[in-house]
Amino acid sequence: MAITKITIRTGVQGPLHDPYGYEEITVRHNNDTVEYHAGLDTWVKSNGKVVTEDVRQVRAVFEKLVGFSVEKAHKYHQRLTGPFHKCPKCKGALESSPGYAGEQLQYCAACGNIVWSEDPTPYIQ
Ligand SMILES: [Zn+2]
Repeated sequence: MAITKITIRTGVQGPLHDPYGYEEITVRHNNDTVEYHAGLDTWVKSNGKVVTEDVRQVRAVFEKLVGFSVEKAHKYHQRLTGPFHKCPKCKGALESSPGYAGEQLQYCAACGNIVWSEDPTPYIQ
């Protein structure tokens, strides 16, 4: 069973007098976690290890690791953003769970498919 979960966080980082917008995309697929971060710093991590910090390479590296582009990640994320009434995969009934801290998610009681998740906008420094 493959669960692919896309989390997109946008927010502001840096000093309060000089804030800088950032975007972070996390793709979890089975046991692999790929993170894309574009802001003051730019990097792609795979399972916590930095793969590249080259601003000209991050998008290409992200796409190579997860199999879809940053733009596609946004599209998938929108499509995954529910709430749904039934599992898109097996039409099973969905349950809600608070998930991790501050995260809401719905999962399918029948197949375990996670269909929706959302993180609050954090402020990181
Ligand atoms: Zn299902």
